[in-house]
Amino acid sequence: MMKHLWDANTPEAFWQLETAVPPEVWQAAIAEAAVTLCLPGNVTAMSDLLMMTLGEGQFGAAHFEPPTSIRLYYHVKSYVPHGLIMLLRRALGRRQQSRFLLGWPHEDRYARFLWRVMRGVLVRSGCSELGYRPFWPGGARFALVLTHDVETARGMDYVRAVADMDEAHGFRSCFNLVPERYPIDGALVDELRRHGFEVGIHGLTHDGRLFTSHRLFAERAARINHYLHAYGAVGFRAPFVMRHPQWLQALDVEYDASFFDTDPYQPVPGGTMSLWPFFLGRFVELPYTLSQDCVLDSILHQRTPEIWLRKVELIARYRGMALVNTHPDYLSSPTCGELYRQFLAAMRVRHDAWHALPYEVARWWRQRAAPEAVPEVWGSLTPDAAGGLLVDGVAETGEGHRPGHEPSHLPSDPSVGRDVCPAGRRFQAPGRATSVAEESAQSPNGMSGGAASEYS
Ligand SMILES: [Zn+2]
Repeated sequence: MMKHLWDANTPEAFWQLETAVPPEVWQAAIAEAAVTLCLPGNVTAMSDLLMMTLGEGQFGAAHFEPPTSIRLYYHVKSYVPHGLIMLLRRALGRRQQSRFLLGWPHEDRYARFLWRVMRGVLVRSGCSELGYRPFWPGGARFALVLTHDVETARGMDYVRAVADMDEAHGFRSCFNLVPERYPIDGALVDELRRHGFEVGIHGLTHDGRLFTSHRLFAERAARINHYLHAYGAVGFRAPFVMRHPQWLQALDVEYDASFFDTDPYQPVPGGTMSLWPFFLGRFVELPYTLSQDCVLDSILHQRTPEIWLRKVELIARYRGMALVNTHPDYLSSPTCGELYRQFLAAMRVRHDAWHALPYEVARWWRQRAAPEAVPEVWGSLTPDAAGGLLVDGVAETGEGHRPGHEPSHLPSDPSVGRDVCPAGRRFQAPGRATSVAEESAQSPNGMSGGAASEYS
């Protein structure tokens, strides 16, 4: 049953072509492009490919069950000295990094798979050009979505300051609240809404136990649904981004935001590899695609938003969704707050993004997939002479793109676009292997460290 949660996300549904293409053409193009994903075994059936990628099936059948070490961590956390907790976190982080199978912060194999499928469809159907429904309204190249998880009462006290910062840069965002952990200021929620912000629900008590058993999850889901209705919220993100695709179906939401494209720094590391929203059973999933603020600030000690900005470039090239998850609790620190402020300033001067709230993106994605939907303008897909795909005349490498959008100080990323499996896949070979994360840790660019996540 769980296998079919992702079935609505075929390449055909993704591209939404103006002209119908025979199923056998799609199937042949998918079978040919599947190698791009570097999945174990010879998987070519689309349903299996979706479960392995969007469904994180490549990480094993027990992937969504928190490991014993994580369960133990949350049981003892409040009784153990802070220093020992940090040692535990670092140990867990090293273990996770050594096994990570995806690229980070950039994992573009799923994007390249979809591009390669589309090129195959064009070539096999003998078409020099096909129309597609643009991914975002108004001709935007990518979507920009700002979300904030409010972890504690201290974070709640800083919500207004973060909202002011977003608003000062011309943006609105979504604040995800924990209904049974700290008092929620109803007047502040009303004020946020009046100013165009969104409010979502972030777990129930944020104690790390939401997914420890299906029975407990079902009990808490009923209370979470109560709060969703009470606050007029339509979106959810699980604490610690622990997640279970099947269990989450019990929530009365239009969208969930508990998944991500790639992240080795979470209690359950992994990723859907998707730079776009996708359908997950009865709701739309909005994976975050930019690293969490606490990873950049507390773990990688970044003092500029360069990792975020590089990722935005990748996302824009593939017309994806840049969704960031930050926390008022951490943004109140000078270093983290400055990181975020610089990011907002960089995004403010871009004119190729569709800035939207999460619920707007979820509704748009559903509307785009409706059979009767007719776009104002069809986009254009053409094969290019170099063996790639031109989307509206632009290759995914950025060639042919109108100048003026990319920050010129950012060097190109050699890890993007390579047609080889990442080193993390070598984990499956006998003996000790070097993972992508470890290689990054050895590199001088500081983009991956040896510490563990703050687990927020
Ligand atoms: Zn949280």
